[in-house]
Amino acid sequence: MPTYEYLCEACKKEFSLIQSFSEHEKGKVTCPKCKSKKVKQLISLFTAKTSRKS
Ligand SMILES: [Zn+2]
Repeated sequence: MPTYEYLCEACKKEFSLIQSFSEHEKGKVTCPKCKSKKVKQLISLFTAKTSRKS
């Protein structure tokens, strides 16, 4: 199943979800940190392995 990258606009947390295509189509994504629904998908066409240590 594909992995989708999201950014929460409420708390700025980036997270990834493994969703089936049908789950993704429903678009019901909430931030795992603050439960906000103000999340936007980050378009990642490639399997970008970015290890961010901030
Ligand atoms: Zn959040």
